Amino acid sequence: MQIAEEMNQQLSADLEKVGHLINGEIVSTGGPTQPVYNPATGQVIRQVEMADQATTEQAIAAAEAAFPAWRATPPAKRARIMFRFKELLEQNADTISRLMTEEHGKVYADSMGELQRGIENVEFACYAPELLKGEHCRDVGPGIDSWSEHQPLGVVAGITPFNFPVMVPLWMYPAALVAGNTFVLKPSEKDPTSALFVPQLLKEAGLPDGVMNVINGGKEAVDTLLTDKRVQAISFVGSTPIAEYVYATGSAHGKRVQALGGAKNHAIVMPDADIDNAVSALMGAAYGSCGERCMAIPVVVAVGDETGDAVVGKLTAELAGMKVGNGLEEGNDMGPLVTRDHYEKVRGYVDLGVEEGAELVVDGRDIAVEGHPDGYYLGGCLFDRVQPGMKIYQDEIFGPVLAVVRVDTLQQAMDLIDAHEYGNGTCVFTRDGEVARYFTDNIKVGMVGVNVPLPVPVAYHSFGGWKRSLFGDLSAYGPDAMRFYTRRKTITQRWPSAGVREGIKYSFPSNH
Ligand code: NAD
Repeated sequence: MQIAEEMNQQLSADLEKVGHLINGEIVSTGGPTQPVYNPATGQVIRQVEMADQATTEQAIAAAEAAFPAWRATPPAKRARIMFRFKELLEQNADTISRLMTEEHGKVYADSMGELQRGIENVEFACYAPELLKGEHCRDVGPGIDSWSEHQPLGVVAGITPFNFPVMVPLWMYPAALVAGNTFVLKPSEKDPTSALFVPQLLKEAGLPDGVMNVINGGKEAVDTLLTDKRVQAISFVGSTPIAEYVYATGSAHGKRVQALGGAKNHAIVMPDADIDNAVSALMGAAYGSCGERCMAIPVVVAVGDETGDAVVGKLTAELAGMKVGNGLEEGNDMGPLVTRDHYEKVRGYVDLGVEEGAELVVDGRDIAVEGHPDGYYLGGCLFDRVQPGMKIYQDEIFGPVLAVVRVDTLQQAMDLIDAHEYGNGTCVFTRDGEVARYFTDNIKVGMVGVNVPLPVPVAYHSFGGWKRSLFGDLSAYGPDAMRFYTRRKTITQRWPSAGVREGIKYSFPSNH
């Protein structure tokens, strides 16, 4: 518990600077910093150091130096460290969740939920010795055996977004580490403290120094990771323009890259759906975490005008009771947006929607939260009769803004989804099995729900969208992660009997 206690003390003494974790130590290079805000109050609470190329290279060097011994550590021993890490995460759940809420803004219960989903990825990593088993074939030729094994890549890096400061990094490094790689994480500079705190627990769990490193920073740090020859692979999660840039730059520098991008997830509501259940589900999916989830539902496609009227009426009633406020104060359903810039951007989209002619049924722009006049609060907003040509329909807004589009048929609804540039998640609300089956079979989206609005795969499946929501071949976490973080080697072996010389054969080896 030593590190956790030290960290708790540091935090209660008001940690001022968020540094880096390099070779098992928290280091501060004295370089440039950027303010970190509490979005609930609008106050600066810390400064985060912004790593330059030299600091990033130091972390890469530490990871490279730690690789040979870590690669030689038996997988069962690596997994045992993950078991202890899981326990430490559970013991420190309150501290971690508070840190997340303090810098991100999401309500405390939501932070706890995020952490739990992260822990499930650690549980998956505990299973590594089984997952890393290769395939063996005896007698592929006369006296010849052959087998495939999964070898670690070396130094791998993760670059993560603000919206899941703990869970998304946990999608990456438990699997990468347990597979025998060493890691450099570059979390979001907007809410860096929980992302830096959690990997320190790995040291307490027994991880050797240098195996896991964290650098805080922005573009300079990312560009160093993308171009440094020692980094073998990059996992990225963030917005689509940066995902595309990371994929192109990392690939051009010979790295294996998976880059998960943005989303605009649609939920179809069919006329036969249980509307009350659908509306409850949509409230959480649209406004939970202030809409700042890549699996959030910002678009409802109502099939038929009666369905549209019922959905809009019930959502309006529910929005009247939704409590907005500081995520650390009990009883609130939705916290603030992450930064002032993001608040201005989302609010600007609400203004734009009105200009574009959509019907703003619920206007959250003028919300006031008592005691927090400088927090970045926006109430839940609901637009009806949104048209596919509008910017508020096309763009990822990433805020508490739900757009209702009305169509006449299931096929029209599905055509809308298929035509959209993103393909992360989607869902249909229906009681009709035939509709559900047709939808799940044919929709061009990576993660699909039936009466489940946030169909986020559990840790032992993998997470990935289609179209411009994912660049690369393999999805995040689960079975795909074990493939992403290892490369296959196939060995073919014969031990000729002593003194028996094989004759020369010029033909291609075969079993004939
Ligand atoms: P972002 O793209 O702004 O930042 C992500 C990471 O990239 C951060 O670490 C950031 O420091 C870095 N970065 C930002 N600009 C950069 C640049 N010009 N060059 C190099 N690196 C840069 O994303 P965000 O605002 O932190 O997160 C929200 C976005 O992430 C949304 O678009 C959301 O849909 C997406 N997201 C996607 C998934 C998914 O699984 N598909 C999951 C979570 C979030």
